[in-house]
Amino acid sequence: MNQCDTPEIPLLAYDAALDELISHLSTVPGVSQKPLMQALGEVLAETQQASINVPSVDNSAMDGYAFNTADLASAGATILPVSQRIAAGFTGAKLAAGTAARIFTGAPIPEAANTVIMQEQVELENNTISFHTRPEAGNNIRPAGNDIKAGHTILQKGTRLRAQDIGLAASVGLQSLPVFDKIRVGMFFTGDELVEPGQALAEGQIYDSNRYTLYGLLKSLGCDIVDLGLVGDTLEATKKAMLEASAKADLVVTCGGVSVGEEDHVRIAIEQLGQLHLWRLRIKPGKPLAFGQINHTAFIGLPGNPVSVFATFCLFVCPLIKTLQGRNWQKPVGIPVVAGFDWPKPDSRREFLRARLEPDEEGRLVARIYPNQDSGVLTSTVWGQGFVEIAEGRTLKAGDKVDYLPYAQFLD
Ligand code: AMP
Ligand code: MG
Repeated sequence: MNQCDTPEIPLLAYDAALDELISHLSTVPGVSQKPLMQALGEVLAETQQASINVPSVDNSAMDGYAFNTADLASAGATILPVSQRIAAGFTGAKLAAGTAARIFTGAPIPEAANTVIMQEQVELENNTISFHTRPEAGNNIRPAGNDIKAGHTILQKGTRLRAQDIGLAASVGLQSLPVFDKIRVGMFFTGDELVEPGQALAEGQIYDSNRYTLYGLLKSLGCDIVDLGLVGDTLEATKKAMLEASAKADLVVTCGGVSVGEEDHVRIAIEQLGQLHLWRLRIKPGKPLAFGQINHTAFIGLPGNPVSVFATFCLFVCPLIKTLQGRNWQKPVGIPVVAGFDWPKPDSRREFLRARLEPDEEGRLVARIYPNQDSGVLTSTVWGQGFVEIAEGRTLKAGDKVDYLPYAQFLD
């Protein structure tokens, strides 16, 4: 048992740690108005209402013929001359009694018509239609306001704008939206053993992968990045990088050097430069995680192991970033699924296994885990599509219920 596991120094549980982290943060406030296409992926700063109905008028859902059900024959075929033609984008005249209007999808229903019959259901001869069916009033008509009613809320403040969101904004005529300014995240990576890809590896060296993982994760959440690259394992270098990053960014994320070894300087640096709010968590992977602040800049030190970086980013950095961004995010909710594996050894820490859902022999989806769950095995994050969450002290048999958390719930 190492120092972190002794009962005298209890490790902080996942939920408590997350609540603690969030309690120290507030939204970075700047707002700017951006054209819809530039607003994509940004966070909406004000709730939006529609100023018009969508559609604005009753219109046809089909290519066909508009008429009034009062003109249906009392028996036998209904026969109606076609008195006008209305294409989408044009407004017809009031429909003459006893006639039909040729109409196309999206075209406004003419006054005095109350139904549309599909063109496939009529016979057309000499500009006259005949049919035997008895359509009802309202058939194939999309009423005004069917999608959106004027005055109603269309998009909530705090929404990260997706394709369908900017599409909806466009549908009510908005050409730009107020969005929160992007947050700036500073990052650096500690470890004298690290070299960048492209260089030859000397003995004892490894390639720096965390920088690329973290870059991708931050980009996928729409952050601006201040990348300070590799930093050597000295307290001086660590403090210098930390000061520079915190001066330039709203949040600083580092990898490595956060444990209790003599080469781990991150925690001490943060204690000397600012405040350490939290350190050491009862989770696996990712026990030695440090959270604090330097002046007004939040700081989170992730462990160096590549899987820990990916997992703790999802579990902690994502909620942190979403809070700073002003998003109205919710804690990811585990999807209850059937375990397709045994987990015989309980752990005092909550485990987040790299997993994915696959059909079993009967076609039911079950959670399978990557066979090697070591925190250095980055392949597990690539193979996996989510985490299986295993509570502290729990064992499992195949067939038991477990919670599955898709990566996408964190990185959306
Ligand atoms: P540390 O947290 O600094 O003790 O690092 C834990 C493990 O992660 C060590 O095996 C490191 O070599 C490895 N590691 C740290 N930083 C990186 C990085 N940027 N890329 C890949 N592996 C790393
Ligand atoms: Mg290190």
